[in-house]
Amino acid sequence: MLLLALDIPPSQTEFLQLKTVLQSYGFAIHFDVPPERGAYGLLDSRHKTIWIDPLVFDLGIAQPTLVHEAVHAAQYCYGKGKPQPLGLSLEPPAIARRFFLRYEGLRRQLETEAYTIQVQPDRLDLVINLLHKYCKNSHLGQQNG
Ligand SMILES: [Zn+2]
Repeated sequence: MLLLALDIPPSQTEFLQLKTVLQSYGFAIHFDVPPERGAYGLLDSRHKTIWIDPLVFDLGIAQPTLVHEAVHAAQYCYGKGKPQPLGLSLEPPAIARRFFLRYEGLRRQLETEAYTIQVQPDRLDLVINLLHKYCKNSHLGQQNG
């Protein structure tokens, strides 16, 4: 996620706002090194837990990292526990392309949406709306995908 180095400094308030929304829909936020090599963030859909590497605060990419994982959370709600693409009408910006082209199949579709939202200027509003839209009525609780 090197493109994020060019990003605006993250707003702590916005980070906390999104964190609160995610938690209200039953997602646990875990500040530790994610169990996937090279990732700053990860959604563990089996345990409904979002991993955020504490390093992102030093790197100044905490907000877009959480936005990215929040898109995966919306995909999780939409697929009722099994992440599914939302079918967004947004066009992925060229700058984001190299980050999802290394994935294949379903994972590529999921990552394309996450990277596309992550680089939008209004990403915070976008992802919070997606969470409200797809997670509001999904009373999933803790269950295996
Ligand atoms: Zn991702």
